[in-house]
Amino acid sequence: MKEKYSKVITKIQEADSIVIGASNGLSISEGIHIFADDSSFQENFGDFRKKHGFRSIIQGCFYPFPSQEEKWAFFSRMYEYFLINKEASPIMKNLYELVKDKNYFVVTSNIDAHFTLAGFPKERLFEIEGNCRNLQCSHGCHNQIYPGDEILSKMARNQENGKVLPSLIPKCPECGGSMQVHIEIDGNFLRDKSWQTMYQAYQEFIEKAHGKKIVLLELGVGARNQMIKAPFMNLTNLEECATYITFNKGGELYIPDVIAAKSIGIDGNIAEVLQQLVKLK
Ligand SMILES: [Zn+2]
Repeated sequence: MKEKYSKVITKIQEADSIVIGASNGLSISEGIHIFADDSSFQENFGDFRKKHGFRSIIQGCFYPFPSQEEKWAFFSRMYEYFLINKEASPIMKNLYELVKDKNYFVVTSNIDAHFTLAGFPKERLFEIEGNCRNLQCSHGCHNQIYPGDEILSKMARNQENGKVLPSLIPKCPECGGSMQVHIEIDGNFLRDKSWQTMYQAYQEFIEKAHGKKIVLLELGVGARNQMIKAPFMNLTNLEECATYITFNKGGELYIPDVIAAKSIGIDGNIAEVLQQLVKLK
């Protein structure tokens, strides 16, 4: 095992470019499980669970709330749960420590904005499905997203009986209609200028890495993930000097034979793996 860790460190140190890909498994290792009806969900969202019957954060995101007051009570609570008075977790701090001096780029489907919280700069971060702190028009009437930190914090702190004050509810500045959090929950999800810019930045980062030593560092991405894992495996296959490094918990590690010689898989708790790596660095 120690040998594997040293190999990972060497690959990271020698890399010209590092692409970090992260999905739900990384959040779970931080203790945030958006698909689970766990004690954390019950503690933080128990009132919604009781009133509306949904059993996880993700179910809440897709839930057809009967009113805007109730919808914003939930989404501002989610914002609070992910971000208000939160410090970056040791996991995210260790990940940042591991790559901060390198040429890296992050691509993630996580909506908790925890990369930003840990200090990863926005110019190196592509959040494919948006994040919990931005807002857009619910109808997608115009192609722009808005920072929502201020209003979400206010709504999180001013809710009663599962509702926020009607005066706090954001309205679309163009059509006057309802707004929603900029996460991909329906077909109206906006791929606005900022989203396109980061998508381009991700593509350019990969193009520039062509022919060089590239490390694809994948954290907590499920075996069937097409958004992050499939491109990572393709790139590993195509690029002569690529190394595919994947961390995942028991049984979820998956490396196809065709790239096995260029891959390092570590099966285990991501928190512990990152801790070990930072110690070795
Ligand atoms: Zn609108």
